[in-house]
Parts: sequence; C-alpha cells; structure tokens
Amino acid sequence: MSSELRWAVTDGPAGTAAVALPEDGTAARLLGLHRGSGFWCSRAAGGCGGRLVLEARDGARPHFRHSGDVRCALTGSGAAPAYEHLRHRRAVGAWLAAQGLRPRLEEVRGPSGSGGLHVVVAEVSCAVAVQLSPLPDTAWRERDDRYRRQVRHVTWLYGSAAESAADTELAVRGVAYAVRRHNTGLLVGVRDVDGGTRWVRLGSCRLTADGFAAPGAAEARALHARRAADRQEAARRAARCAERAARGPRDHPRVEALPFLPFPA
Ligand SMILES: [Zn+2]
Repeated sequence: MSSELRWAVTDGPAGTAAVALPEDGTAARLLGLHRGSGFWCSRAAGGCGGRLVLEARDGARPHFRHSGDVRCALTGSGAAPAYEHLRHRRAVGAWLAAQGLRPRLEEVRGPSGSGGLHVVVAEVSCAVAVQLSPLPDTAWRERDDRYRRQVRHVTWLYGSAAESAADTELAVRGVAYAVRRHNTGLLVGVRDVDGGTRWVRLGSCRLTADGFAAPGAAEARALHARRAADRQEAARRAARCAERAARGPRDHPRVEALPFLPFPA
C-alpha cells in the first residue's frame, strides 16, 4: 500500500539522519538491528516527532508505524518528498563542511511538498540548487537569473523528476548535473550533449571560487564546444552551397569567357 510510512530518522524527534526502508523484509529487519536506538517521525520533515516502530513481518511489505494513537501530517505519500529533501540536505551540508565551507541551506517549496534545496556559500560566491521536483523552463530561467545576480557561480543538481529542466541547461551550457541518492551519500551524474552520463560521488566534486568542479565536466564542455564548431562548419558549408546554387551555372566564371587573366601570371 502506498500510504504506508517508509521513511524515518535515527537521530531524534527533529532529526535529519533519514533512512528509507528497503522493500525486502530481511534487509528491513537488519536495518532495525543496526539502528537499535530507534526511529522517529522527524519534525524536520513536517512529521510529529513521535517514535516509530519498524514493522517487518514475513510476507508483508516492511513499513514504519507510529507508536500509539497520534495525529500526524506525514501519513503516507506526503512523507517521501519531505524525507528526500532531508537526505539531500544532510549530504550536501556534510560535503561542503568537509571542504571547510559554511553553507546557508534553505528549503525550496515545490508544487507538492519539497521542491529542493537552495544552498548559498558566500565565501566562494557560489550557489547550489538541488532541484527535486519538476521545474518548467520559464521558472528555471527566472530562478537561474535571480541566483546569478546574487553570486558568481550557480550549479544545479537535478533529481530524476527535474530531468526536463536538466535537458534545458544541457542544451544551453553544454553540461548538466543529475543527482541521486546512494547509501547515505549522493551521486552526481555529469551529463554531456551526446547523451552520456558519468556518475561520480559528490565527495569527488569540489566547490571553489571558480565554481563547481566535477570529474568529467571539462570533457563534457569540450565535447559541447566540438559539436558547436561542427554545426557552424556544416552551416557555413550549406550556405556556400546555397549561394552557388542561387548564382546558377551560367554565372560561374569560365576561363574562355574572360578576355584576359585578371592578374599577371
Ligand atoms: Zn508522525
């Protein structure tokens, strides 16, 4: 049933250490053993802060249930986006802290729950936008412009739901970054204009005064530049062809028609 609660945090009523239950009962029971301290319905994700009980009985899909009879906003489907956001927030915060940076992280509200994260790192004049919900083209441009007025470098990390915005940026800038969860961390997919995606750990990327640096991004940009140059060359060739065709065969200079050679031989 989709209304079952499948997310929790392991670090208290307002915690941010989010876990998603595995589909498999045995894996879910193992998770229960490893996190013996307990599970909470996180207030940071809009939940009630109450204790959660892990239900992983044979034959049933594992899920969390509130202990006792509580009224909670996070019943079922609404929980997933809120916890997704938490997971990304924690991983991005840890990644920047490991580089000695002090980010300001803000949740961006989407059409249904969390849209993603807006992270500003003033020391290096960078912003990182983690986009988890779909974002129309016009909204992407508006936000991208607005962020660029505030800081020198803006980097977008797109979740799978925001793929069309990623396609737009890829076409405009020649590289776009996908993002997905991997264990407790994040993977970044460096996308190029030929349709390739190279997945790297977020930990292998850097944020500096020169912006976001990911392994493979320079290659993706170089590919974009080559493809653009190829297109220009093809357009020039087509224009020359069209010009010749428009002049027609009778306008081509013929040696026998010239009274004398235009230049001394
Ligand atoms: Zn709750």
